[in-house]
Amino acid sequence: SLTLGIVGLPNVGKSTLFNALTRNDVLAANYPFATIEPNVGVVPLPDARLDQLAKIFGSERIVPATVSFVDIAGIVRGASEGAGLGNQFLANIREANAICQVVRVFEDPDVIHVDGAFDPVSDIETINTELILADLQTLEKALTRLEKEARVQKDRRAALEAAKQAKDILDGGRTLFAAQAEVDLTELRELNLLTTKPFLYVFNADEGVLTNEARKKELRELVAPADAVFLDAKVEAELLELDEESARELLETIGQEEPGLHSLARAGFHTLGMQTYLTAGPKESRAWTIRKGWTAPQAAGVIHTDFERGFIKAEIVSFADLVEAGSMAAARSAGKVRMEGKDYVMADGDVVDFRFNV
Ligand code: GDP
Repeated sequence: SLTLGIVGLPNVGKSTLFNALTRNDVLAANYPFATIEPNVGVVPLPDARLDQLAKIFGSERIVPATVSFVDIAGIVRGASEGAGLGNQFLANIREANAICQVVRVFEDPDVIHVDGAFDPVSDIETINTELILADLQTLEKALTRLEKEARVQKDRRAALEAAKQAKDILDGGRTLFAAQAEVDLTELRELNLLTTKPFLYVFNADEGVLTNEARKKELRELVAPADAVFLDAKVEAELLELDEESARELLETIGQEEPGLHSLARAGFHTLGMQTYLTAGPKESRAWTIRKGWTAPQAAGVIHTDFERGFIKAEIVSFADLVEAGSMAAARSAGKVRMEGKDYVMADGDVVDFRFNV
C-alpha cells in the first residue's frame, strides 16, 4: 500500500506524533490479522458517511479506509553526502510515495532546537536542501546517459529536456514538486527523484499558532502547492486518553473542530492522490481505496482479484442520492441507481455492488 514518509529535524515532535498515530483501537478491531510493522502507523481515514451507511443497511460494523505513515528515522543534515545513516535515510524516503515533513512552530524553552532557535522557513529549507542535493547527484549521472541516448534515439529527447529543466529548478533551490507547473514530471518518473514526490507539511504548533489564522495562512502559502496540517502533537497524544466529551472540550480551548490526527489522515490521503468508494450491507459498511481515475473493474479488483477478472457490471448509487432516498429500494424507485459497465470511471462516494462471474 502507499505510504507517507515522516521526516523532520530532531526535536520537532516526530516521535510524539508518530506514537499518537500508531495508537488507534479502530484498526486493531477491524484488521485483527494485519501485521503492522513497528515503524509504520496505519491510521483510519475518518469518514462520517460510513456511519450513515451503517444505519441505512443495519451494518454490524464499519471498516474505514486507511492511510499509512512510515517513521523515517535518521539524521538529515549531510545525508546527501552519503554518511552511513544518511544513505539509509534517503533510501527510506525513496521508498515512500509522499513526504510528510513535521515542522516545529511551538515555543518551549525546555525543548532545544538543533539550530538554536526554531524557524520554520529555515527548517523546511534544511530538509529540502538535502533532498535537492541528492536529486542533483542522481541527475548528473542521468544527464550523461540521456545525452548519449538522445543523440541516437529521438524519443529520448523529451526525457533529456525534462532532466535539463529539472537540474535548473534544483540548482535554483526549489523542489520539483513545488515547480511541477514548469516541468514534465512524467518524463522524470524513470529517475525516481526524491523531490518529485508529493509533499505534505505538519506544523507542530502551540495554541498561539493554532488560533492565529493570519499566521497559519502565511505558513500555508509558504508550502503551497503542498498541503498543510496544523496540530499540537502533545495535545493529540492527550486526546487519545480522554473520553469524547472531554476531548471535545480540550479541542475547543485550542480552537480546533476535530482532532489533528483526523485532518492529517485526510490530508495524507489527498496528498497520495487516492479516493474512496463505498460498499454496504448487513455485515459491514466499508470504504475502499482506489486511485483517482480508476475504472469500475479496477476498483472491483481492490476487493478481490476475481472481481476484476470476472467483472460484469456495477450497480452504483451516489452516496448523496442514497441518503436522500433513505434506502436502496427507495433510491431504485427514484431512478437513482445506475448499472455501469467496464469503462465507467469511479467517482468519490460511489456506493457500489459489483456483479461478477467467478
Ligand atoms: P523528534 O525528535 O522530532 O521525534 O521529537 P520528539 O517527539 O521526541 O519531541 C521532542 C520534545 O518536544 C519532547 O520533549 C516532546 O515532549 C516535545 N514536544 C513534542 N511536541 C510538542 C508540542 O507540540 N509542544 C510542546 N511544548 N512540546 C512538544
